[in-house]
Amino acid sequence: MSPKAKKYLITTRTHEIFIMRYERQPTIYGFCPECQKEVVLLTSDSAVTHSGKRARELFGLIESGAIHAIETASGHLLICRDSLLAK
Ligand SMILES: [Zn+2]
Repeated sequence: MSPKAKKYLITTRTHEIFIMRYERQPTIYGFCPECQKEVVLLTSDSAVTHSGKRARELFGLIESGAIHAIETASGHLLICRDSLLAK
């Protein structure tokens, strides 16, 4: 860098606002291989709302097998409500 060159420090600050609307969703039923029966399946957002647990905590419980979940062919995660309520 030449001695005449100036160095500029540009600081930016951003704020992001997320607005989420929860509207009534139709109930999803499906077969849980762990429970071996048809159960109500929740989306991850619905599971957070129902349980009051944070999404990261829920995913940890799913990974450990404490909560049952099914991954759909399109990659969505559906969570077994029975296993969630048992926690
Ligand atoms: Zn289950």
